[in-house]
Amino acid sequence: MFKPREEYSYLMDDLITIEKPVSYNQEVTKYIRKANGKPILFNNVILENGVKSMFPVISNLAGSRELVAKYLGVKPEQLSRKLLWAYQNPKRADISSNNDYKELEIDLNKLPIMIHYPGEAGRYITSGIVFAYDEEYGLNASYHRMLLISNNKVVARILPRHLHTYISRGVKKIAIGIGNTPEVLVASAMTPPIDVSEMDIANALKPIKLIELDGVYSAPSEIILIGEFTGERHPEGPFVDVTGTYDIIRDEPVIKITKIYHRENAFYHDILPADKEHKLLMGYSKTPSILNELMKVGVDVKDVYLTPGGSSWLHCIIKIRKNDSDDPIKAINAAFKGHKSLKMVIVVDEDIDIYDWESVEWAIATRVQPDRDVYIFKNMKGSSLDPSADQITRKTSKWGIDATIPDPNRIRDFLRVV
Ligand code: MN
Repeated sequence: MFKPREEYSYLMDDLITIEKPVSYNQEVTKYIRKANGKPILFNNVILENGVKSMFPVISNLAGSRELVAKYLGVKPEQLSRKLLWAYQNPKRADISSNNDYKELEIDLNKLPIMIHYPGEAGRYITSGIVFAYDEEYGLNASYHRMLLISNNKVVARILPRHLHTYISRGVKKIAIGIGNTPEVLVASAMTPPIDVSEMDIANALKPIKLIELDGVYSAPSEIILIGEFTGERHPEGPFVDVTGTYDIIRDEPVIKITKIYHRENAFYHDILPADKEHKLLMGYSKTPSILNELMKVGVDVKDVYLTPGGSSWLHCIIKIRKNDSDDPIKAINAAFKGHKSLKMVIVVDEDIDIYDWESVEWAIATRVQPDRDVYIFKNMKGSSLDPSADQITRKTSKWGIDATIPDPNRIRDFLRVV
């Protein structure tokens, strides 16, 4: 019977264990969806030709705010501030002097890499964090979905962000970490400036020791693939992304896997696209950079929420204490800067519950005059995942809604009578 190591003990109270055989081909999807953010362990994943996976599979390692908060030893409502603090106070992560990694023959077919939805291009690694090192910028960590194209090659979706820059500066060899504790999972999804290592943010959240294998660095992941960019490109997609819609096919870089390592008693981490864990990691991890930009422009921000209806990615609600009539528009602009994929920002006062859409809609209904309070921004760079935008150039229009009380002399007229 599989038992995760000590650092994963935060999962145990809620862990759902599935002993019966479950197919890698879309069958896991049903179970993970039903788990509704609770950690779920599959002890018998069945691969092609009825072969049993040598690794058990866990999903929802970071399936909810509550779970991540529990791991970090804070209350769920303190988590945003904790993440912001680590984002603003990265601490250099040391490299471990020893490790227990074992080498495995190179055959990616033997890893429990899943097909999640009908119509997808094939088997996708969804939890893989790419670790790349640059002499000047340091260690970068970022998620890239990877489509299996042979037993030793994957094609990775790489947007023009940090890893893209590293590659253009000559980085070829990388580590891909699969199966990580929440500080690594959450920090790798953040977007600090290029010369700040996501692993130093992880280390500020909870101390970690990095691993050095074959001259590249990684987090202490369960499974570490060593890979090299071959310079080839290969069609990637369709893939169901966080919006729950199919992302388009593009030619993307090919990575040849040169080594496969795993820890003693390792498991494989699968993230179900468009489900709870995906949304939490992708969206919630952006709250520190949004909060940080708001604070930089002097807005007294109380909270930020990327709403589930906006796929926890495209829409955000910001609660502020309005000290100046310019604060809402400042907040809207700063939020777009803190999370480039945002499409709509709604700014509300302190009396609004941003986690309750009805409360937010009430603020819009009673405090907004559209010709005065709705801002439209044209020709912006947005998300490649929004089917209504140009998914190649990422050109989109955006909007901001100032749903704060418009007149400081008439506040009483706008308060809900209880
Ligand atoms: Mn980075």
